[in-house]
Amino acid sequence: MRLDNEQESGNVEDRRGMGMPMRAGGVGIGTILIALAASYFLGVDPSTVIGVASQLQGSAPVQDVPAKKPPAEDEMARFVAKVLGSTERTWQEQFKRLNRQYEDPKLVLFTGATPTACGTGQTAMGPFYCPMDHKVYIDLAFYQELKDRFHAPGDFAQAYVIAHEVGHHVQNLLGISEKVHQAQQRAAGEAQANALSVRLELQADCLAGVWAAQANEAKHILESGDIEQALTAASAIGDDRLQKQARGVVVPDAFTHGTSEQRMRWFKRGIDSGDMNQCNTFKAAAL
Ligand SMILES: [Zn+2]
Repeated sequence: MRLDNEQESGNVEDRRGMGMPMRAGGVGIGTILIALAASYFLGVDPSTVIGVASQLQGSAPVQDVPAKKPPAEDEMARFVAKVLGSTERTWQEQFKRLNRQYEDPKLVLFTGATPTACGTGQTAMGPFYCPMDHKVYIDLAFYQELKDRFHAPGDFAQAYVIAHEVGHHVQNLLGISEKVHQAQQRAAGEAQANALSVRLELQADCLAGVWAAQANEAKHILESGDIEQALTAASAIGDDRLQKQARGVVVPDAFTHGTSEQRMRWFKRGIDSGDMNQCNTFKAAAL
């Protein structure tokens, strides 16, 4: 992946090494542990679990954490800032075409745990997006895990992870997340609600692909082998693989991210077309 021509985003917040302020989030440690276990082993989107937990306990005030910039010499933080900057330029342009205004999300680097408007964010959740505060949260330790545990190394695989979370931000700005959330409240059961989550997740994969295609057209970011890297990552963190690793069996009803094959297919659809109109997973008869 070539990022020489990309400008770093100013929207990266560095909370690494800060730990948790006292009383942040207001969600008890028991809830956090249960939510974590649920998200990690069941493949449930942790932001949903924590969000629900927060709602159950009443809306919790989020403590203000000082927004610090990462040090200039931090290579990994610079990489993240460049990828984020690239997504900003892509989505600003795409939104302009829709006659809408794109609002840049913030990206928070943290270690261990950090307060979010969706409850306490934890490393074990993996990267996530909180629709309540428009922030993407990532502990960079996940990249090590991506390489060691999921066998998906490479800088473009890492960029894809950010682009997927930014995809959730795009869905949020377009009101798609809200519609899905409402439909889930009306859903007949957990399986139906999960099926909607899968479509939301696959759409975020497709939008990540659209970013890659557009950024490549503008700045030639792709090098040979890059697309394969992202596909490997998409495949490795598909729910079927994660569940097999965790429990040894696959239970389709609990899927919320889609299977490895589905994730690869939708990312590819985005990158092949570069067109967000190709990402309507909600209208697709087959995923
Ligand atoms: Zn997601």
